[in-house]
Parts: sequence; C-alpha cells; structure tokens
Amino acid sequence: MDTKYIFVTGGVVSSLGKGIISASLASLLKARGFSVTIQKFDPYINIDPGTLNPYEHGECYVTEDGHEADLDLGHYERFTNIHTSRANNVTTGRIYQSVIDKERRGDYLGKTVQIVPHITDEIKRNVRALGSTGNFDFVITEIGGTVGDIESLPFLEAVRQLRWEMGQNALCIHLTYVPYIAAAKELKTKPTQHSVKQLQELGIQPDVLVLRTEKHIGHDMRAKIARFCNVAPDAVVQSIDVDSIYKVPIKMHEQHLDEIVMRKMGVLIVGEPDMEPWHTFLERLDSASETVNIGLVGKYVELQDAYKSINESLFHAATYAGYKVKIHYIHSEKLKPENCDETLRGLDGVVIAPGFGQRGIEGKFTALKWCREHDVPTLGICLGMQCMVIEYARDVLGLEDANSTEMDRSTPHNVIDLMEEQKSITNMGGTMRLGAYDCELRPGSLVARAYGNTRISERHRHRFEFNNRYRDELEAAGMACVGINPATDLVEVVEVPALRWFVGTQYHPEYSSTVLSPSPLFRDFMRAAIEYRSEKTTETK
Ligand code: GLN
Repeated sequence: MDTKYIFVTGGVVSSLGKGIISASLASLLKARGFSVTIQKFDPYINIDPGTLNPYEHGECYVTEDGHEADLDLGHYERFTNIHTSRANNVTTGRIYQSVIDKERRGDYLGKTVQIVPHITDEIKRNVRALGSTGNFDFVITEIGGTVGDIESLPFLEAVRQLRWEMGQNALCIHLTYVPYIAAAKELKTKPTQHSVKQLQELGIQPDVLVLRTEKHIGHDMRAKIARFCNVAPDAVVQSIDVDSIYKVPIKMHEQHLDEIVMRKMGVLIVGEPDMEPWHTFLERLDSASETVNIGLVGKYVELQDAYKSINESLFHAATYAGYKVKIHYIHSEKLKPENCDETLRGLDGVVIAPGFGQRGIEGKFTALKWCREHDVPTLGICLGMQCMVIEYARDVLGLEDANSTEMDRSTPHNVIDLMEEQKSITNMGGTMRLGAYDCELRPGSLVARAYGNTRISERHRHRFEFNNRYRDELEAAGMACVGINPATDLVEVVEVPALRWFVGTQYHPEYSSTVLSPSPLFRDFMRAAIEYRSEKTTETK
C-alpha cells in the first residue's frame, strides 16, 4: 500500500494533548500490524530544544541517534515502542537553516528565495522524508502550536499543498477544545466552530475532529459540530479527561478512531487491533491499591514536564510491580541538612535528577548523604550520578573540596571532569555527548542483575564524566565502577554494594522506558523501594 500521511493540528488553546492523540492513534495502527512513525514539527526558531531551559519547554528528550528533541517524542516512543530519530522532530529553525544553506550554495539558481515555495517545499520534503524510506505504512505528522499562530502558517500551508497533491493518501485530524461553562451548566461548541473556520480559511478541511472535553459530549452536540464544520458526524470523536494518559488509546478505539482514519484513507479494515498487552498494563494499573513513595530531588520541580520521562518511567515500574506511585518533588535549593530528615524520612526510594550548573547542587549532596547513611534505595541519573561520586569522594574519601569542574573549575579534586572531546567545543547547541552508547556491566552487579545482561546500550546527554584517576581510590573505599564504555573506558555506572540499592548512571535510563517495555533499571529500583517499604512496615508493627 502507498504510505499514508496523517496530519494532526490543534485549535482553540494549546496543551490539549495532540502528542497523546497522535501517539494513541499510532499505537492502535501498530496493534493492527501496520508500520507507523510519528514526527513533530515545532514552529519555533531554535534548531532543536537542546538549548532551551526546561522552564521554557519542559524536558529535552534524546533519541537513540543523538538528537535533542521535543518531549512529545518521548510519548511517541512510550506509546508505540518504536524508536524515533532526528527525522522525527523538525523546527522552523532547522527548515530555515537548510533553505539558507542551499541559498548560499547557489542551489536556487538566482531565484528569489521565498516562504512559498521554498520554505514550504522544505517542510514538504521533511514530511515525505520518513515516508520515502519505504519503511512505513503510516506517517503521522503533529503540527506544533495552535491554528491562528503566525508561526504555524508555513507548516499549515505545506499541509494544504500536501493534501491537494496526495489526495486520499493524506488526512487531517483537528484537535479542539469544548469548554464546560459551569454557570450555564453547558458545553460550548463555538470555539471549535471558529477554530475549524480558521483552518478552512487556510484551505484545510479537517477530515476528523477530536474534541477535548471534561464532560461527555452527547450525540446531538456532535451532530451540531459536524454540521457546522463540514465533517461527517461519525468522524467527530471526543477525548474526555481520563485518570491516565495510557487509557487514551482504548478510549479512541472505543469510538473507532483507527477505523475512521483507515476507511477515509481507503485502507481495508480487517479484525481488531491486538491491544492485549496494553489492557494487561491497564488492569495492573487499576487493581493497584498500595502506594510507594518516591522522592525526586531536582531544581525544576515546580514544572513537572521538566522530568517527564522520569515520571513516566517511575509510573511504568510501579505499575508493573502492582503499586501506585506517589512522586514527592523535592526542590534541591530548599533541601538543607536541617530539614533533610523531615523531608526524606517517609520515602521508600529517592531519585537524584539530571541537571546543569551550580544552582541547587548542594541540596543533591545533602539528599545523597542522608540516603547513603539511612540506606534508602537511591537512583542517581546523569548529574545525579556525578553528585553521588562527588558526595562519596567528599564524605568517605575525605576529599573535602571534591567537585565537578562544571561547578568549580579550580577544584583540587576534579572527580568529575570535562570530557576530553568537549574541551575544544565552543558552540552549545547539539554538541554534548548525545545518543545511545554501549556499556559493559560487571557480572553480579545490581545493574547487570536488573538488565539480565552484561552488555547494554542506553542514551546519554552530558559534557562531564567520571575522572578515571580516582577510580581505584573510590573502588577501594566501596564505590564500585560497574558499568564501563568498552570503546573509551569511561565509567558509566557506579554502585555501593554495601548498601541496599544505591546506583548512579551517567546515562538516562528514563528515555527508553515504554509501556510495553519498561526500563529494567527503574523496575529494579522500584522493587528495592517496595522491599524497603515493607521492611519498614514490619518493623513498625
Ligand atoms: N551537567 C552534567 C554534564 O553536562 C550532567 C548533565 C545531565 O544531567 N544531563 O555532564
């Protein structure tokens, strides 16, 4: 079959969950046996979100091939188990950069370079690039932003042209919001009508409408929306608030979203999607009654999107263990030796978050010292692992000024140091050690047991690394270097075997945890936290 292109646009307000709808549809199509990929177009000028502060744009996700990407790609992977790549996330900045590069090379042969056709052609080329690999039956393209934004215009113009060129092989799903006005006790369709009109003014007639709502939208109201918007009544689907994003694919299938799309695109509908493993996950989720309490120590805790993949990984791991998880966000700037005990005492496990720079770093050391001394299951990720090494060097080795050269350039004990290959780098964008690298695990270590393997591959995003000059000293003092990059001999995993479960990874295990394939490291961390929790409960009985 020809590759089918599905465009997902959004209207009325942002944050409606276009990413979740795209990912849900992808998971249904995949469960029907199709090969699917999802890409996201972001209308901002940054080349990628790598240089964006988490306060601006939430977490920066990293693909296996080392691209710093929008956090929606994390949803795509978690819902579909399919790896994304650099080609799956394109920004306005990337589009302009490549058009300007072509202009400088003289590729436009003296023509005036314009938004239409040159920018729109470049957008179209990027849409088709994934399809033209021949690897996919469906390419779902999510257009970031909201219809009506100045910035989204070239993308929507490209969608208009592509729909015209592709005919039945292209389809547009428009996601809107139907607000409930409490005073009138009524749902209101007007914003949806306006948003569809705006799309129509741009020459795009949506084929399917997905209505985000807090209350059930009845048949009559859907028929009314259909009538006003030139959309078939059975192609108006509601996306009602649910207690877990992972229920959305099931909700979409109940309303036949996958079938509507297939029918409109001339794809034969045979049987049902195989969502059996997905249902098993949801059953576990709904039957969990007890709660495991996990602390997450970081400096971006006011904004939960900053740790999106960690939140989801903890959730996957707890669900598999039959538990609910409550994540206690602990602001590392506010954590002091004086309030540490009362803050951390009730927790069953602690995650020390990734991050950059000096701000809030002392709180991470305080938390780590407390966790180590109270033998609480602890997972340090990236900067969290680096802090584990620094805190251990300070407190156990007695190297009081031990630090990372990221925080103190002139530290006498640079237990964490800038990587050699980073020393000549001046540009900040896309220049960290990024993407998946192999790691060799020491047999019998906690990590090797977690993965059930001694050779793994996980994703990285950092400039600083464990300084091998301190390896023997740390090993002798009880910090085992149990994960090593075979090509460079860099230490990627440390643990303290004398403790219950104390592991730090230079890589980010959270990027590869999915619903159907949760991160083994998070699963074992969670198991340790649950064991610790039951030990504490037995003790107090
Ligand atoms: N700031 C540290 C580094 O660059 C850690 C980065 C991170 O936690 N992602 O090495």
